[in-house]
Amino acid sequence: MPPFPSAEIKGIIFDLDGTLYVCDRFATEIQNAAAAYIAGVKGISETEAGLLMAATRQRLSEESGTVQTLSAVCTELGGSIQDLHRFFETSLRPEAYLVRDERVIRLLERLSERFALYIYTNNNRVLTTRIMNYLGLDGLVDGIFTIDDTWRGKPDEGMVNRVLDEIKLSPNQVLFVGDRYDVDLRVPEQLGCPVYLSQNLEQLLRLEELLTPI
Ligand SMILES: [Mg+2]
Repeated sequence: MPPFPSAEIKGIIFDLDGTLYVCDRFATEIQNAAAAYIAGVKGISETEAGLLMAATRQRLSEESGTVQTLSAVCTELGGSIQDLHRFFETSLRPEAYLVRDERVIRLLERLSERFALYIYTNNNRVLTTRIMNYLGLDGLVDGIFTIDDTWRGKPDEGMVNRVLDEIKLSPNQVLFVGDRYDVDLRVPEQLGCPVYLSQNLEQLLRLEELLTPI
């Protein structure tokens, strides 16, 4: 990956789930909760719903050529993203799975001294706030953009432009960091933003060194 134009970057926009923490068990819990929601919508068992969702995700991915989000799969199967997130708020327990990592806290503390930091996530505001608090990351970011701001899930060009407008930075000044290129990074990159794919703690921690002025 080429070095970033560090001198131009004024802000960093992080995805949350899978980026600022990685937890396969909680990711599975999210998929299971979504299957429970779709099971209710369709009047089928949770196992059947899980299989149906996997098949739908596969089909949509093949048709579109890009990775598909849970939001897209839910909508395709006749569910409502609003209802899905209401269900998530009452059923998901991130506190039972996530582990606070001081290295991530220190990283964001140091980055916050040099950059404006933001979260932009397909998660909802209630769960995002709970997760940020639990991980000790609350208070370290300057703003949070969640799916319930507009109910338009990533990837969405209109939403990226709206975020850039709100934080009053131009594309070349904002680094996007996420764990799924198709979902988190493709649209910002097309708009001229630098991007960084981070799928584990080592890659996340490396960000600081990549942002060090030469
Ligand atoms: Mg993610």
